[in-house]
Amino acid sequence: MPAETTAAAVETRVAQCTDWVRRLRRGCAVPRLAQEAGDPLAALARELDLLAAQISRREKEFERLFDVVHMVDQGVGLDDVLNRIFDWFVDIIPYDRIGCAFLTADGTHLTAHWARSVLGPVQISSGYSQPIGGSSLGAVLLRGEPRILNDLEQYLADHPDSDSTRRIVREGGRSSFTCPLIVGERPIGVLFFTSRETNTYREVHQAIFRQIAAQVSIVIEKSRLYQDIVDHNRRLQEERGRLAEQAIRDPLTGALNRGAIMHGLEEALCAAGCCGDTVGIVMADIDHFKAINDECGHAAGDAALEEFTRRIGSALREHDLIGRYGGEEFLLVLPGTGGEAVRAVAERLRRAVASTPFDLGGPIRTVTASFGVVAAQPCDGSAATLVAAADRALYVAKNGGRDKVVVG
Ligand code: GH3
Ligand code: MG
Ligand code: MG
Repeated sequence: MPAETTAAAVETRVAQCTDWVRRLRRGCAVPRLAQEAGDPLAALARELDLLAAQISRREKEFERLFDVVHMVDQGVGLDDVLNRIFDWFVDIIPYDRIGCAFLTADGTHLTAHWARSVLGPVQISSGYSQPIGGSSLGAVLLRGEPRILNDLEQYLADHPDSDSTRRIVREGGRSSFTCPLIVGERPIGVLFFTSRETNTYREVHQAIFRQIAAQVSIVIEKSRLYQDIVDHNRRLQEERGRLAEQAIRDPLTGALNRGAIMHGLEEALCAAGCCGDTVGIVMADIDHFKAINDECGHAAGDAALEEFTRRIGSALREHDLIGRYGGEEFLLVLPGTGGEAVRAVAERLRRAVASTPFDLGGPIRTVTASFGVVAAQPCDGSAATLVAAADRALYVAKNGGRDKVVVG
């Protein structure tokens, strides 16, 4: 039945429209306004319906974008963000596939990082790489502007060498919207939206796709910054570890320095006190070391110190300690090693030094060392007292002809 066009009827229809617009403005749900009549008022009603649909779509876009911003704020990882974008926008913007690719460090290739598609089996998956030199993708990245291709089959016919287009067409894509990902004004990759229909993308889609790409860019930037911080902290930690290690080591031999070996002895005595154990303490001194320096040179003397430390170190157990106490004098701490055992260990060490001549860079030379040994319990005295006792035993070994082990 044709709509009435009397003044009263027109007034009623205008009042309906006014009420409808008011409801829309207040954010209330509005019914379809479409009117049967072919007059200008009916045309206005159709336009208003379209406007309402657009506002509703924009609202949804806004809400979903807000959710993405929130997710990005929370530090959700890139792949999770991409997956949720795929799920959240599918009913408001057209796509059947989203792909994300990054520029390689040298800027010559684009490497696929992630893709999700409802077209068919994904033909461009993670790791797929294409050169960008001279391609229209290169221009997208260079200008930082999105690109719309609304007929991929035609594009492929015009660019038969484009392997990526061939794959997307094979997958079922017919239009694409390509949006650059930009971090700090620098393009670092692209986000591809693909549709199964031709002529899908228009200027109207630019804003939302750009916003999505901006959020994805932030995630990437964040994760890179985060990675930078993690790397920086790791380097700092390693450096700190190296410095801490240097602070307790003798630079020439790598043995603990005097402070550290005394500290190690105190700790060993303390631990032994808790379980009634014994600590073996060995003071070792290279015999006639001055003669090595005098006859072979200072560098040979240094080499002898290094080789001596290496031989002693490799003859000890893992939890035994070796420290350079003075010039060519070394203090060894052997936790859990009692009277006879500590003598046996020292004897083994003595042989490890004396049995094979040292190669000091010149003529090989037999080197020997003397050992003063005590097996101590914490109640026997302080670390300094026990070291003094080992030193006295060493003195006896020296006086007894050197190349000897003496138990104090
Ligand atoms: P003894 O058998 O009685 O122990 O005699 P010695 O010659 O080994 O002992 P002495 O104390 O007379 O000489 C030790 C020498 O070690 C003197 C010192 O110049 C040298 N020396 C100390 N530290 C180093 C070093 O780092 N490198 C070198 N090459 N020589 C060192
Ligand atoms: Mg000596
Ligand atoms: Mg000495």
